[in-house]
Amino acid sequence: MTETRLRFPPSPTGYLHIGGARTALYNWLYARKTGGKLILRIEDTDTERSSQGSIQGILDGLEWLGIDWDEGPYFQTEFSNEHLAAAEQLLANGKAYKCFCTQEELKDKREAAMAAKQEQIGYDGTCRNLSPEQVTENEAAGLPYVIRFKVPEREGILAYDDKVLGRIERRYNEVEDFVIVRSNHKPLYLLCNVVDDIRDRITHIIRGQDHMTNTTRQILLYEALDAPLPVFAHMPLTLDLKKAKISKRSHGEIVAVHFYREHGFIPWAFCNFLVLLGWSPGDDREIFSREELIEAFTLERINRSSSIFNYRPNDPKFFTDPKAISINEQYLRSMDLTELAPMVQAVLEREGLWQETYQDKLHEWFLETIGLIRDRFHTLNDFATLGRAYFSDEFTIEEKPLNKNVLKQPELKEWLPMLAERYHALPAFTLESTETAARELAEELDVKPGVIINAMRTVVTGQLAGPSMFDILITIGRDKVVRRLRTVSKLYPAEN
Ligand code: GLU
Repeated sequence: MTETRLRFPPSPTGYLHIGGARTALYNWLYARKTGGKLILRIEDTDTERSSQGSIQGILDGLEWLGIDWDEGPYFQTEFSNEHLAAAEQLLANGKAYKCFCTQEELKDKREAAMAAKQEQIGYDGTCRNLSPEQVTENEAAGLPYVIRFKVPEREGILAYDDKVLGRIERRYNEVEDFVIVRSNHKPLYLLCNVVDDIRDRITHIIRGQDHMTNTTRQILLYEALDAPLPVFAHMPLTLDLKKAKISKRSHGEIVAVHFYREHGFIPWAFCNFLVLLGWSPGDDREIFSREELIEAFTLERINRSSSIFNYRPNDPKFFTDPKAISINEQYLRSMDLTELAPMVQAVLEREGLWQETYQDKLHEWFLETIGLIRDRFHTLNDFATLGRAYFSDEFTIEEKPLNKNVLKQPELKEWLPMLAERYHALPAFTLESTETAARELAEELDVKPGVIINAMRTVVTGQLAGPSMFDILITIGRDKVVRRLRTVSKLYPAEN
């Protein structure tokens, strides 16, 4: 069997969009599944809109997602000569022609066709049958021209078998003679893309359904260039809740891959979310390791209908699709701690909370701590925000527990320092001894143990909820706990 060769050919005109990332992921999965190759090609022919920053953003995004490629990055602009040579070849074979119609003429014709309610409002073929003499004359007169592909005058149907959508049919007479080279001699996407795919020996093209009109025309180019057709698989589009395409203009940064990186998503968890936007395994599984997903992925199970990016703007609880968050949480909770640790390290480093000892002397402590606190977290960033009290003495106490568990009961100003002294004096600072001391104090004071324990949680961690209190005490350590309990009065407004 011939080797499968796939490609991801982004146009570097913006950041890596989650739609683009999903396309890359599907191509990558299929290449890995079939033992084939993934080629990265930067389609930078639109020099005005392409930028170096965008190229870097795409490369960084792919690297972050863990999508690696086997060849490239190739840059489309480096192959301009080949694109033009292909256009020349088509001209020489009578499969393309020079068209001298001006923009105004084309506009007038289009308007007339629309006014006459003609079914076909594409190019009318005026220059299709110019004699060689007329062409030479026009050129000699310096008239600008584009090169148009000559759609074969065939009756009937142009058809191909799409791996996702099944048989796709278009009538030949619905396809107009499309432009392949502009009047400034710049070849257009439709041509460049095919010439590159032929040169790169691409066997499978997995791309969005928005490219289907291109596919019909490109199939004609393959034929005209005597090249074998690749397999096409058109993926459903991803829409928002109102069935509109997701875009930066309407949705902001949440459609950019870097948003997820900055918000502390686990790269593979995000891939896991992305793959389910338009593909399903055919059973109720949702969480896949890399290997499991490569094994399970097939083109046939890509959904035919569009997928929904379930984002509700202005809902602070769900700052993006809740499914992306919930998959991330599942990974956070179940990942091997040694795999999670470097990701947490990166976040702590970024926030100035990392200490080198977490890597040697305190390594065990570090792993246990992240294992203890991860259960309620949504993203990696939570380690530096909700979990800050474990790594620093400078943390904020959330307002709700502060009011509810501390400020409401001014006696705690004495009670917590009393507990601090008992903790200080304990022969051993253990789960049992800390719990017994807290309960004994509550009994002596004739208050519910919860009053002491909730206040202690607030003062020691800054949070309303979290893991078991006594686990927390042991993790944070006697010295810090004692210090935080002793200084509780600082949290009350100054008296006088
Ligand atoms: N550069 C095109 C894009 O980013 C490539 C489309 C394709 O052929 O896959 O939309």
